[in-house]
Amino acid sequence: MIPDTCSCGKGRLKKGTTDFTVRVEGEIVIIRDVPAYVCDSCSEAYFSIETSRKIDEIMREFRAGRLLSKPLRAGEIELKMSAST
Ligand SMILES: [Zn+2]
Repeated sequence: MIPDTCSCGKGRLKKGTTDFTVRVEGEIVIIRDVPAYVCDSCSEAYFSIETSRKIDEIMREFRAGRLLSKPLRAGEIELKMSAST
């Protein structure tokens, strides 16, 4: 599912976290500390299926106006994952 090496051909992927930035209806939304596999060469981030689903879910909630970004700074949402990843 997650490749060992990055598509840039130079880096290797390491388990870590990244900030996922997405534009929703003209607003920039940043989801902090998203679990990802990050290339140590070009910093490209790869997400597992589970994480991608979680992001989709969060974006749906956000669009529906059910998610408030407080107490984080405006426009930031915390991704809550199960500990299994
Ligand atoms: Zn890379």
